[in-house]
Amino acid sequence: MKTIETKMKFENNQKYAQEADAQDPLKSFRSKFHIPQHKGKDCIYFTGNSLGLLPKNTEKAVLQELEDWRKMGVEGHMNAKNPWFYYHNFVSDSLAKIVGAKPTEVVAMNSLTVNLNLMMVSFYQPNGNRKRILVENNPFPSDYYAIEQQIKFHGHDPEECIIELKPGSDEHSLSTTSIIKSIEKYGDEIALVLIGGVNFYTGQFFDLEKITTAAHDAGAFVGFDLAHAIGNVPLALNNWGVDFAVWCTYKYLNSGPGSVGGAFVHERHGNNPELPRMSGWWGNDEESRFEFPKNFEPQTGAAGWQMSNAPVLSLAAHKAALEIFDEAGMQALREKSIQLTAYMEFILKDIWKRSGVSFTVITPKSPEERGCQLSILTGPDGKKIFEKLTAEGVVADWRNPNVIRVAPVPLYNTFEDIYNFGRIIESASN
Ligand SMILES: *Cc1c(COP(=O)(O)O)cnc(C)c1O
Repeated sequence: MKTIETKMKFENNQKYAQEADAQDPLKSFRSKFHIPQHKGKDCIYFTGNSLGLLPKNTEKAVLQELEDWRKMGVEGHMNAKNPWFYYHNFVSDSLAKIVGAKPTEVVAMNSLTVNLNLMMVSFYQPNGNRKRILVENNPFPSDYYAIEQQIKFHGHDPEECIIELKPGSDEHSLSTTSIIKSIEKYGDEIALVLIGGVNFYTGQFFDLEKITTAAHDAGAFVGFDLAHAIGNVPLALNNWGVDFAVWCTYKYLNSGPGSVGGAFVHERHGNNPELPRMSGWWGNDEESRFEFPKNFEPQTGAAGWQMSNAPVLSLAAHKAALEIFDEAGMQALREKSIQLTAYMEFILKDIWKRSGVSFTVITPKSPEERGCQLSILTGPDGKKIFEKLTAEGVVADWRNPNVIRVAPVPLYNTFEDIYNFGRIIESASN
């Protein structure tokens, strides 16, 4: 990965923040979103890592499908403006750009944890001694539950089969070197390396390319949970040779609460009908789907992992949200994101230096190792400070025992949001 420079020299004042906003090439994108209100003013919304905001074009997109349903009933499958039969295909090009894949390698379907389970059916194939799954420290609970039950399903013991990496005693993140060393150490005991591309708690963005190579050198499959990575950090899944990935779309992708999830399957597997998988009619070859062939003939590509017909209303919201990503482009978003997050870190450090507060940002310092989010490890007063932030219209996220997560999102957050947040957290900490 290239080294990233933060080119601005930051200042903690309103004039500076307003000028940075005025020079922002993506500044017009904020007006494409509904910003939640607090006492008649825009909230400072820093939870796009949890639920992205509603794009203004979503309502019309969903209403279009309702209207076609009202007018056509079942005929909408073929005759709607966006024929429902093919609906999942309408988001493939945009998704492929965001994750660095070919359109045939991605599919929007189900939800994240369902997709994770489906992918483990294909890519967790314990065999003799090779039965362990290596995960990052503190993986998201849902992922952990899925892993545990998959191991049990194969008749193995999760205690014995899960290798959870641990950071050094006074560290919060895992170094790439230590991850790779562990992969080498466990070598032929590992069936699957499964990492959250960006860890939900610390915000650490792992070196997915190096992890992929190390996993393959060890003879293991490698998959990533991209819940906090997709639409946040640059990805090149095809080039890196990743076996599979899964994601949800309601975080950085702004596709609505509980909206349709997605999956990536590398083309070298997508075209392999022998790979074990769970199947249903929507994964069958489109040509013969309605002829109801007796035997499953999977479509080539990730679409062959679909089971049920596509959730059109949620895909409509997804499609509308992705149009904004097409327009902005991941590279421009990433460039702004690096500046925004660095600015937030600068403001926090500036305040803490002056006030003598000793909180810690547990997210890695280097831009290559993080996306939008900063995780702030607070002291015993943390919860009180968090409550004051909430009362002042800052929407942030609290994680027990004492972490505040804040994620300035380049599509709709501003430098001034960050400056104002700084003022609020400063007065809340005194
Ligand atoms: C948000 C998130 C999930 C959520 O799973 P759903 O199946 O969409 O409910 C799972 N894993 C990670 C890492 C997440 O951040």
